[in-house]
Amino acid sequence: MTKLIICRVALAIPLHRQFDYLLPTHLAPTSLSSENNELNNQSPLIGCRVLVPFGGGPRKQIGVITALPKDSDFDINKLKAISQLLDNPPLLSPNLYHLLNWATFYYQHPFGDVFQQAIPTLLRKGKAAAFKAQEYWTLTQDELDITQLTRAKKQYQAATLLQRSPLSYEQLKAQGVSRASLNSLQEKQLVNRYEKMPETNLTWANKVQELQEKPHLSTEQAIAITTVTQQLNKFKCYLLEGITGSGKTEVYLNILKAVLEQGQQALIIVPEIGLTPQTIKRFKARFNVPIYLKHSALNEQQQLETWLHAKQGSAAIVIGTRSAIFSDFKNLGLIILDEEHDASFKQQESFRYHARDFAIKRASQENIPILLGSATPSFESLNNALTGRYHHLFLTHRAGNAKPPKNDLVNLTGLPLKSGLSPQLIDLMKQHLAKNNQVILFLNRRGYAPVLMCHECGWLVKCQRCDAFYTYHKSANYLHCHHCMATHPVPEQCNDCGSTNLHSTGIGTEQLEETLNQLFPDHATIRIDRDNTRKKDSFNEYLSDINSGKYKILLGTQMLAKGHHFPDVTLVALIDVDGALFSNDFRASERLGQLFTQVAGRAGRAEKKGQVVLQTFHPEHNLLQELVNNGYGDFSRSALQERRMAQLPPFSYQALIRAESLNATQAENFLTLCKQTLNQIAENNKISDRLLILGPIAASMERRAGKYRFQLLIQSEQRVLISKTLNIALAHFEKLPEGRKVRWSIDIDPIDFI
Ligand code: ADP
Ligand code: ZN
Ligand code: ZN
Repeated sequence: MTKLIICRVALAIPLHRQFDYLLPTHLAPTSLSSENNELNNQSPLIGCRVLVPFGGGPRKQIGVITALPKDSDFDINKLKAISQLLDNPPLLSPNLYHLLNWATFYYQHPFGDVFQQAIPTLLRKGKAAAFKAQEYWTLTQDELDITQLTRAKKQYQAATLLQRSPLSYEQLKAQGVSRASLNSLQEKQLVNRYEKMPETNLTWANKVQELQEKPHLSTEQAIAITTVTQQLNKFKCYLLEGITGSGKTEVYLNILKAVLEQGQQALIIVPEIGLTPQTIKRFKARFNVPIYLKHSALNEQQQLETWLHAKQGSAAIVIGTRSAIFSDFKNLGLIILDEEHDASFKQQESFRYHARDFAIKRASQENIPILLGSATPSFESLNNALTGRYHHLFLTHRAGNAKPPKNDLVNLTGLPLKSGLSPQLIDLMKQHLAKNNQVILFLNRRGYAPVLMCHECGWLVKCQRCDAFYTYHKSANYLHCHHCMATHPVPEQCNDCGSTNLHSTGIGTEQLEETLNQLFPDHATIRIDRDNTRKKDSFNEYLSDINSGKYKILLGTQMLAKGHHFPDVTLVALIDVDGALFSNDFRASERLGQLFTQVAGRAGRAEKKGQVVLQTFHPEHNLLQELVNNGYGDFSRSALQERRMAQLPPFSYQALIRAESLNATQAENFLTLCKQTLNQIAENNKISDRLLILGPIAASMERRAGKYRFQLLIQSEQRVLISKTLNIALAHFEKLPEGRKVRWSIDIDPIDFI
């Protein structure tokens, strides 16, 4: 008699509950159905994707088998059958599967969803984990006369592209070629369609070569490189604290070389690939090995291909954003996380993992080194390095002949400002521009003005759905809420007093651009912000126009601060960052220090000496003084002491439970019940004195997109007390009827409290 196999399946739903199904005999791998001893938790069925009926209707869901229980809590005769077994063997390596389980526990997020978020979209949809033949097109003859096509413009364009080399349909599509054009060309017997499997190079490891001359290393670079390469093949976390322009990338490249030469793969995690095309180019230019990218601009098929190449070993290097940390590798030897302080490494919705923390866990699991690099390390990493948990490496000098910039504070008090520009700054800009150099102005506020105000009665135009003002966008001529994305026509009259005397207050990049065009008509200004770079590739085009000197004044938001190298920029100015000095977010000062240093780092990266100007109404502020006079190194160490005194992270750990609802009371009530549960658990476990539970309080923006938002903060000096308590509490939370009326979530190690 064949035994019934019960499979526990995790689905991508927001609940921790998993569901039992029966594996029909005809689906069970033959080795399994006969051998009972394989039906335990080491079974090769664990970690396989399955297609199962769910929720009554005809729709099927993809899930993953997590256990083979001997018995079910439900009547076995009523269990539904698995419709299809999608993997055999399991999809992920045991190490990665194990880590996803850890993440479920640590981030309190349901395993089914963790698993699905960790795999490429096509696998999430049930596609096979295998390469697929791609459609290609080629000319029927090498020397084809295509002049006959000049009247069919589209076909002519397609044929011209194919004259150079055969192309995949995807490549042609990206160039604007339609299927209709290709079909017409095929009817005329000018082109052929064929299919080809993607190339896979499994032998790269035998012939790793450097393709470029490399610079003579500085002593500090050499020390950093040897320190890491002497201890490959074992877990160790390194923090490379190197000032901007000190040659961190060169250190990465040299360590990579050692890893590749051992035949091992490397994973490089960066904040935003679209914003750092130069860095990617440097990696590709250095080695003759296959490099694959993983980021959201790739289509689903490309994402799957990168994933498969990493898994089977035909990718030597994978460079990707946050989620690349879930790539499976055949033989991973190194993880590098560049700009490790960057906030984009933390996912801010649903599965709220931090790619840096996950990466460190991953390296430890794989027993390999991990290198965190930054000019402005996060206080978490810095503290770990200062206490010896990480190995601390330094690059304190700029590479080559580049000199560190000179920093100045400009006291704005009492000065006549032109769209936020002080006379001193305008003067300095003239001087730098006169020497044919470039200037960067940093203003982290897009739009024309942050608010529209009635000059008769003081009425401010507020978003109806948020506790926030509308931003005025002049050229698009509408009001835009940057929190809920709502747009609104520009009102002609005040809502309160009817006056037509409405004016914008404050400055955004759009307004500053207007002023710069008036003040410097002979020096072209380029504005770089999300509004101005929506079009695909526009950002890259701007970058090359900047490097060619077409623009002299670069005005931008955060986007300009990331790792770009502009050799002719000699003056960098921060127009208005005072808001951060008085924020109630304890991380605001850390972020300001990072922002200032990163933006300042754009000045004088080559032969020319740079200058940095910070405009402020509070030049006496000790934080600014420390930053400007002593730099991020000293600033961060003294700010870290303040954190220690206040027992704030990284000297304690936090979790945040958020709840939002159209009805404020419901959100607050739910959190009050959560607090009671948590208190009870803490008491039962005698840890009440070590677990601080604060709230519920309204979020700093209490209403957003029409919903009222509340938070409950849990804090402890011991990480594990938070996870253990929450693990018990979660089952209770999920059963609370009040929880069904609100949207709630748990954020472990939250980095913002907005
Ligand atoms: P970081 O990543 O620390 O900001 P980069 O790695 O981008 O710095 O290096 C800044 C510039 O200095 C690059 O153009 C790089 O090619 C160059 N560089 C790096 N190391 C050296 C060196 N040892 N000698 C000369 N130039 C170097
Ligand atoms: Zn009014
Ligand atoms: Zn809004």
